[in-house]
Amino acid sequence: MSEPKGRGGDWTEERGTSDEGRSRLRGGPEASEPLLEVSELTVHHGQLRALDHVSLRVFPGEVYAIIGANGAGKSTLLRTIAGLHQPTDGAIRYDGKDMTKVRPERRATAGIAMVPEGRRLFGSLTVEENLQIGATYARKGPWTIERVYELFGWMRERRAQRTAQLSGGEQQSVAIGRALVANPRVLLLDELSLGLAPVVVQRIYAMLPQILATGLTVLLVEQDVSQALRVASHLQCLLEGHTTLEGRPSEVTPAQVEAAYFGLAPEQDEEESEP
Ligand code: ATP
Repeated sequence: MSEPKGRGGDWTEERGTSDEGRSRLRGGPEASEPLLEVSELTVHHGQLRALDHVSLRVFPGEVYAIIGANGAGKSTLLRTIAGLHQPTDGAIRYDGKDMTKVRPERRATAGIAMVPEGRRLFGSLTVEENLQIGATYARKGPWTIERVYELFGWMRERRAQRTAQLSGGEQQSVAIGRALVANPRVLLLDELSLGLAPVVVQRIYAMLPQILATGLTVLLVEQDVSQALRVASHLQCLLEGHTTLEGRPSEVTPAQVEAAYFGLAPEQDEEESEP
């Protein structure tokens, strides 16, 4: 795990995700509420408790990153927010409304879109056909297929190509485009870096400022901690379904992140550890 230097990325501050920016973004009284709120969420897969009373609050305009090792429960959390798993306990509120029992398709049309782990494109369909699927029940908003082609410069020329023929990074871009054309308010990104070379990952994450500039809020899941720290305005670490650390990236130390990620006992101050 690399040192989380330069965390909180400059552009997140510019985008109004600093405390000051947050209050600026909130503006009126309604904007002081979180756009997405997860309270004491517990999810089981059979006997396995994948999430154990996990809570989080995501405010408009934030990039909220969930980090954690394999099996920490990150995907389960995103999938439950999208409505693909039912929690055994806890609640999900979105835009002030209780969404806990709402069907996945209604969550999507209300403005929650997910880029799933592993992309899940229709490989035998073309780039444009995959984007059209994303636009089927689109809300009104700034994102169109044309706008996605502007965001990813290579895509227009290759719109008639089957997505199975694309590289992993190109497929990830189509998956992001497919979510964007639905014009969500909250974009759930499940491990964009999975299986991609670091340079490709950086290129994909470099698109985030342009995506945020259209007013989106992002909740992302990453195993790549340094990447998450680079882009996040808020960080939460999961370990075996529990929250082990939470805060702004600038407020947590690399040692704390490492301890939370691997489940190590936090280092004591030298003075405290002396007999
Ligand atoms: P990864 O990065 O490996 O995807 P994760 O942090 O996203 O890890 P989850 O995929 O949410 O973790 O998995 C949490 C736990 O739940 C793991 O022990 C996993 O094996 C289990 N699990 C996840 N999905 C299911 C499922 N559909 N059925 C049974 N067990 C599951």
